[in-house]
Amino acid sequence: MKTYPLKDWGLDIQNPLIIAGPCSVETAEQLDKTVEGLVKQGVKIIRAGVWKPRTRPNTFEGVGSIAFPWIQEAKEKYKVKFAVEVASPAHVEEALKNNIDLLWIGARSTANPFTVQDIADSLKGVDIPVLIKNPINPDLALWIGALERIHEAGITKIGAIHRGFSNFNDTHFRNSPMWQIPIEFKTRFPDIPLINDPSHICGKRALIPQVAQMALDLNFDGLMIESHFHPDAAWSDAEQQLRPEDLGLLLASLKTRQVFV
Ligand code: PEP
Ligand code: MN
Repeated sequence: MKTYPLKDWGLDIQNPLIIAGPCSVETAEQLDKTVEGLVKQGVKIIRAGVWKPRTRPNTFEGVGSIAFPWIQEAKEKYKVKFAVEVASPAHVEEALKNNIDLLWIGARSTANPFTVQDIADSLKGVDIPVLIKNPINPDLALWIGALERIHEAGITKIGAIHRGFSNFNDTHFRNSPMWQIPIEFKTRFPDIPLINDPSHICGKRALIPQVAQMALDLNFDGLMIESHFHPDAAWSDAEQQLRPEDLGLLLASLKTRQVFV
């Protein structure tokens, strides 16, 4: 696959790449306060879920399109870029219309080739970075297949996100990291940026530092971490979100590229 390195993505990319922000956009005030806090910690790319793929029905499924004016306001006020999850061509269309800078494909979508192909078809002729989370199941070929579908649609700014794998009996992690899978990925595709998402692997705040450090020790290219100005009041993934100040402390404590360099 011919892809661009992070430095050529046309974004102000840090090394390692840091993407942080709330699991979900909730209100204009929540987004503003969270982004304000993150910018103080040096974050330049904000993640924010607008449509949420929830496991069970009748739970909060994202605020949807009303989030876009709030996102636009935050972009202008704080001069940040935004990454949003897309799970259908309609999501892609709305995200592009609303000036979103990066797209990501969630773990449940990556597991479904029909969904990935629909998204890929909707991206033809579009130049935007797309990050592809590993599928929820530990299937490296399925993850690679999703990357290939997006690449064949003409997207060349492609990254992979390791967010761990569903399990039945791992009481420690929410999603087992199974590090051998991203390690194998990195060996086979050394030029595709690999980003670790410790938030969805850990499921709880206390574990995040060690997983984030492990990822950097393994030469990952970046981190995507959930952050909320008031995590305990979050509408989704409350236990794993960090206050922006705590994210700042974490970032300051991480040692970059220790083991294999
Ligand atoms: C998310 O990023 O909030 C999310 C739903 O993640 P995943 O697709 O990894 O479960
Ligand atoms: Mn989440």
